[in-house]
Amino acid sequence: MSAESTLRADIVEVGRRMYARGYTASNDGNISVRLGNDRLLMTPKSVCKGFMTPDMMCITDLNGRKLQGDRDPSTEMLMHLEVYRQRPDAQAVVHAHPPIATGFAVAGIPLNRAVLAEVLTTLGSIPIAEYATPSTQELPDAVRKYIKAHDGMLLANHGALTVGADLYSAYYKMETIEHFAKISLVARLLGRENLIAREEVERLQELRGTYGIKAPAPICADDTPSAADAAALCQVVEAPSGGGQRLVPDLMASPSGDAARTGGDAEIRLTYRELSALIEDAIRSLK
Ligand SMILES: [Zn+2]
Repeated sequence: MSAESTLRADIVEVGRRMYARGYTASNDGNISVRLGNDRLLMTPKSVCKGFMTPDMMCITDLNGRKLQGDRDPSTEMLMHLEVYRQRPDAQAVVHAHPPIATGFAVAGIPLNRAVLAEVLTTLGSIPIAEYATPSTQELPDAVRKYIKAHDGMLLANHGALTVGADLYSAYYKMETIEHFAKISLVARLLGRENLIAREEVERLQELRGTYGIKAPAPICADDTPSAADAAALCQVVEAPSGGGQRLVPDLMASPSGDAARTGGDAEIRLTYRELSALIEDAIRSLK
């Protein structure tokens, strides 16, 4: 098989996997890959990614001019072109609407907390690009801000975008984002997230070098939830200082943290047993 026919088959396979895993519904999502230095192979508009055939793909130049194909290229072609323009290292771009990650994108909650070592060493952080009307120039404009420093991002009220050094690497980053979103959701439903301390995040960052993991920008550990401007230059993760501990309880999620942040006026919730113990303690101290 030629390189082009292999890539056509790979796009079909990645589309099938995305559809099978529920990352796209109906005709959602799009996939593209570089074909040599000056052309792109891209999914066409208005097809379900689960039922594509290799002959459906379009070939365009880097300005989006169609060079070959019976169908028109993806409606999100402008976003793909912008990514290739900003990231000469990117060989492939994947866009989908994985439901849990997209839920975070709808809620306006970036996946930027230091909680999983694997995610820190690969993607670093996953910011949210500002809302933009799909298929317009607004979307590439929104993506441009973060794409230089990130291989994956959420798109506000829309979905997720990943890039990679080859097609499967871009696809696996989409899997990582959805998997991370799922784990983050479960931890938050359970009521707490222990964060990896800043010092440990720095150690994980060194592992990138040891294992030859390529990243477009370094991780910047921070203990404030929003450092939006810095996110254009580095991968900002929320990681409090550990003071010798490698894991730090998430103070933002615990009742005592709320009280600390709001000067003691926040509502706290205690079980009957905890309340009884507090009262007994108070009585004992009076005696
Ligand atoms: Zn979309």
